[in-house]
Amino acid sequence: MNKKVDKKSLLESLAQKIKTCQKCRLCQKRTQAVPGEGDPFSKIMFIGEGPGKNEDQQGRPFVGAAGKFLGQLIESIGLKREDVFIANVVKCRPPQNRDPFPDEVEACWPWLRKQIEVITPQIIVLLGRHSLARFIPSARISADHGRVLRKNFENLGKVIFFPCYHPAAALYNGSLRATLEKDFKKIPKILELLEKELKNEKAPETNDSASPKNNSIHQRPSQPTLF
Ligand code: URA
Repeated sequence: MNKKVDKKSLLESLAQKIKTCQKCRLCQKRTQAVPGEGDPFSKIMFIGEGPGKNEDQQGRPFVGAAGKFLGQLIESIGLKREDVFIANVVKCRPPQNRDPFPDEVEACWPWLRKQIEVITPQIIVLLGRHSLARFIPSARISADHGRVLRKNFENLGKVIFFPCYHPAAALYNGSLRATLEKDFKKIPKILELLEKELKNEKAPETNDSASPKNNSIHQRPSQPTLF
């Protein structure tokens, strides 16, 4: 079987199912669902909170002002939007852009989990507190942005996360914006270290505090920071 075609077609078939999903009340008021988009082979995946008005109208993630900013951030690390995969914790717009309710996030989780399973990114950038809370409820965006966190998930195995402030929150707030830009600048180095780590997976463990391996969520609060 051609693995390349497989990933693409699996994501497309998931997207078709997401578009007709009726697992929660959000389907009642949506114009259309927003499954997510990007390179199925990307090493990096970005996960936001949920579609806003523009996304609901266009059926694509991050196409409004926050999306434009996210695109600039992605370009600031030498990538293009098409090189990465962008998705959300909930696939349908919560009315009036309210926060998604916990049962809506849970209803949508199997879609997101399957997308992650297919893409198997090396790292997932969690955009904002809702996205962070879905994966690591004990973490706090104010304390944990810009750090590499690891967690094991049923069906997914070990997943590596990099929480950041949400681009919409940072867009008009000078200090959050500077922090978000600074955090993004760490991503290429982290990818490089993860690449090395994957290559050395079978080599004996070292005690190198610069390795993302030593930056586990379970080592808080005394864990070494990555940079
Ligand atoms: N904010 C999000 O979290 N996701 C989008 O797709 C757009 C804005």
